[in-house]
Parts: sequence; structure tokens; C-alpha cells
Amino acid sequence: MNTQHSPNSSDTGFDVVVAGAGVIGLSIAWELNSLGYSVLVIERDLPGAGTTRVAAGMLAPVGELDFGEPTLLEINMVSAGMYPEFVASIERACNGVLGYQRMGGLHVALDRDEAGALKRAHQLQTESGLRADWLGPMAAREIEPGLAPGLSGAVLVEDDGAIDPRVLVSGLLEALLAEGVEVRSGSGICSLKQKRGRVEAIELDGGERIETNSVVAAIGADAGRADWIPAEARPPVRPVKGQIVELKGDPAVPVCEHILASERVYLVPRRDGRLIVGATVEEQGFDSTVTAGGVHELLREAYRLLPDVAEMEFLGAVAGLRPGTPDNLPVVGASVVDGLYLASGHYRNGILQAPVTARAIGDIVGGAEPRGAIAAASPSRFESAVRG
Ligand SMILES: Cc1cc2nc3c(=O)[nH]c(=O)nc-3n(C[C@H](O)[C@H](O)[C@H](O)COP(=O)(O)OP(=O)(O)OC[C@H]3O[C@@H](n4cnc5c(N)ncnc54)[C@H](O)[C@@H]3O)c2cc1C
Repeated sequence: MNTQHSPNSSDTGFDVVVAGAGVIGLSIAWELNSLGYSVLVIERDLPGAGTTRVAAGMLAPVGELDFGEPTLLEINMVSAGMYPEFVASIERACNGVLGYQRMGGLHVALDRDEAGALKRAHQLQTESGLRADWLGPMAAREIEPGLAPGLSGAVLVEDDGAIDPRVLVSGLLEALLAEGVEVRSGSGICSLKQKRGRVEAIELDGGERIETNSVVAAIGADAGRADWIPAEARPPVRPVKGQIVELKGDPAVPVCEHILASERVYLVPRRDGRLIVGATVEEQGFDSTVTAGGVHELLREAYRLLPDVAEMEFLGAVAGLRPGTPDNLPVVGASVVDGLYLASGHYRNGILQAPVTARAIGDIVGGAEPRGAIAAASPSRFESAVRG
């Protein structure tokens, strides 16, 4: 591997060590490798076994738009625009198909109250200059015949899409392997070694020391409690639990073609006939138990939206921990410790924001400013709060 822009590369180690092999860490490794750095990924569990494994994989900046979050929208729109090339570059390297689809999303109001809320959301979308069309009940059921008959209206967002995060992770792993990038799993980083305020090495749980001058902490919901990150650099990331249910139908006769969403649930169809029903949002700390109440709520709301789900096979349910932040923006950039970079806090959008995060870390590690709105995700916005 050619090292064109070495950030103070150590003689025997790696230019950059990435902690965490979720979608964020692997995407960063992919970007840094393509920029010519020697990269090592360290994963304490199995690659992709964290929150990434649980995500529905919606790439839906328009459908998920909320009031008062214009910067988040900008970050999400940029990343959505980067997705086709991001996926194509991985597919070229891994010789596979990742199944990225721009199938569009249909947001449905099931009664009059929901129609009022959906109209306000639609107004926000159009005022933000986004493409979203209001459909009456008949038009909505024309494109999705399985929808509940009593619906009050819907918004079609043609540009939203999805990818199966587990397939994306497999593709990234294969692509990294093909490029000779090492992804080590089963032992996490437990200590960051510094010399005169600058990172000089990491230590793994088993005691192994690895020399490097640059470490990217892409450790998802753990970032706020990882004691190997010095307290003054640790971001205010908290776990926000989410449960999803997986159903299976006949891929030849899919129950829906679009992402379907009501006020309380969303359904994401996969090409293999699975349907992902998501998701609860729970402030429960580091608890990732699947609960009867969570599964019941998801299935009840899925049935209200698309009665055909009752005929589908129940595959199971999983829970994961979204890395949440106080302002719902991710934390991406240089920390107060020289050589330690943070890439966490992606909350509900980590799959979507993987390309823009990877590019930003590539820029920053190379000494440049990150391009566009992701600059607002700098860890510096929390520094005074962290230091008290
Ligand atoms: C129910 C649910 C649905 C979601 N749906 C969507 C969606 O539709 N679209 C979307 O864009 N996002 C979605 N998300 C959000 C998305 O899943 C997350 O934002 C994203 O997965 C975060 O990725 P990550 O790589 O930061 O974290 P993770 O996937 O959790 O990866 C972090 C990794 O770091 C490892 N690690 C921790 N500590 C250490 C250490 N000391 N050393 C080495 N490794 C360590 C962990 O083992 C883990 O594998 C959803 C989340 C949930 C819970």
C-alpha cells in the first residue's frame, strides 16, 4: 500500500487505528485506505455485531426530517447523495451486490389526527425545498394496494431508499480484505498511550501494544462511557434503545414495494422477502433486552398500517443502542487529545451518514477542514460542557 499522506506514521505501527467495526468504523477504514494510509481496525466483539446489525437501513433524509434540525438535514442530504458512489466503490472491490435501493417511502396517515401531523410534516418538506408529494387515499392504495383501507392520506417521497446494513458490513469487510486492510476482532482497545500530549500507541484488552499516532474512536453508543478515552475528550453520547421485528414473506409476492411509515411504525422491505418493522425509541441506558411490550407495539402498529403482515412468518426481534447526542448531530472530528479523532453519536442515522462521516474523517486526518455541514458535528461544540 502506498502511503501518500502519512499523519506522523510510526515506524513499526499503523498510520491510523480505527476502534470499532460497525458501519462507521469500517466506512472510515475504507476511506482512509483509499487515501493511502495504512489502517488497522480493532473490534472488541465481531465486526458489525453492534447497533449496525439491528438497524433497518433506511436512507431517508426526507421522510425522517423533523422540525428544527436544518443542519442534520443538510448532513443527511449530502450523505444520501454520496451513497450511489460509496456503494459502487465497495461493490467494485468486493465483487458483490450490496442491494442498495431507492425504492421511495410512503408516509401514511391512518386517521384524521395523523393526517394533520402528516400535512405539517409535508409542509416542512416542501418549504425545505425537498421533493415530496401529497396523495389521497385512492392514489396511495394504487401504488401500495395492501395498505389499510381507512387511511386518510399519504406523502410519497420518491428519493428515499434503503440498504441492508448486514450486507453493507459484509461488503465492506470483503472490500477491506481485498485491499489488504486488517480487521482484528475479539479484543478491544483498553488504553490510549500518549507522549507529550500526543497519541503514540494503543493497548488491547490482552495487553498487546500497537504503535500509532492516530486513533479514530468509532465505538458507537460506548463512546460516552469508554474510560480509555480521556475524560476531557469523551463525547456526551448516550445509548437510546431501539427494538425491531423481522418478518418473512414470499419474495416473489412482496407485501409492499416502498418503505411504508405511519406515525408509530415503519416497514422496510428487503429483496429476499423479509420485512423489517421498526422501531421503538427508549431511554433505558445500556439495556438491550427485547421486550414483549416492544414487540407487541411494533406488530400492532404494523398490522394497522399493512394488514397483510399477519400472514408473514415471524423471524424474530432484536434490540440495539443508538448512539444519541444532546443535539441529535453526530460527533465527528478531532478531539482535544492530539491524534485522537471521534466518530460517534450518529443516533438514528448512522447507516445514512456513513459516507459523509468517512469523508470528513479522511479530510480531518489529512489536516484539511471537513467539507460542508458536517463541520457542525465537531466535538469542540461540547468541550466547554465536558470540561465543566
Ligand atoms: C432499531 C434501530 C433502527 C435503526 N435504523 C436506522 C436506519 O434505518 N437508518 C440509519 O441510518 N440508522 C439507523 N439506526 C442507527 C444506526 O444503527 C446507528 O447510528 C449506527 O449503527 C451506528 O454505527 P456505529 O458504527 O457508530 O456503531 P456500532 O454498530 O455499535 O459499532 C460500534 C462498534 O464498536 C465496538 N467497540 C466498542 N468499544 C470498543 C473498544 N474499546 N475497542 C474496539 N471496539 C469497540 C462495538 O463492539 C461495536 O461493534 C437504527 C438504530 C436502531 C437501534
